[in-house]
Amino acid sequence: MVADRAGRDWCLFLDRDGVLNRQIVGDYVRSWPQFQWLPGAFAALEQLSDWAPHIVVVTNQQGIGKKLMTADQVSSIHARIAGELALSRVTIDEFRVCPHLDMASCRCRKPAPGMVLDWLRVHPDVDPTLSLVVGDSPSDIAMARNVAAATGGCSSVQIGTQKPSARADATFGSLWDLATAVGQTREGHD
Ligand SMILES: [Mg+2]
Ligand SMILES: [Zn+2]
Repeated sequence: MVADRAGRDWCLFLDRDGVLNRQIVGDYVRSWPQFQWLPGAFAALEQLSDWAPHIVVVTNQQGIGKKLMTADQVSSIHARIAGELALSRVTIDEFRVCPHLDMASCRCRKPAPGMVLDWLRVHPDVDPTLSLVVGDSPSDIAMARNVAAATGGCSSVQIGTQKPSARADATFGSLWDLATAVGQTREGHD
């Protein structure tokens, strides 16, 4: 999983809620005080940003479509995340958000692959077949499969074990566990 990506242009696509921060059950992260980093997630990003040439967050935020929050509120949360990470010189290339209702059947709400495909379209040098989707939900893993169907390949890693998907290429307890595994493998190859 590690050696074949060295020196290549690829992207780590990260789900947000349940991977970076605590998911709020029955609600949405509407404001910065509600955003809580999961244990080890920030440190994991410090490690993963050394490994991945690009990091893009792809997140369904149906609460915008439900008018429970505005797109600007979500953008300002993402600006705060980026600001905290910048202090550790970690860069998120972009935050891609699907604001639509489930019932809208848009092309960007996961498991649809639109958010990833749109980003890949403007980054033609990035190899989708070496790219990796990391998420905690079956819809993240299904999105990776849909990206693969459209581009010829894309791997998936499922975080957490609440709803394990047999279709993920790998599973880890947390983003930190993934970062640790990557770090160990890289040491072995350096
Ligand atoms: Mg999630
Ligand atoms: Zn959408």
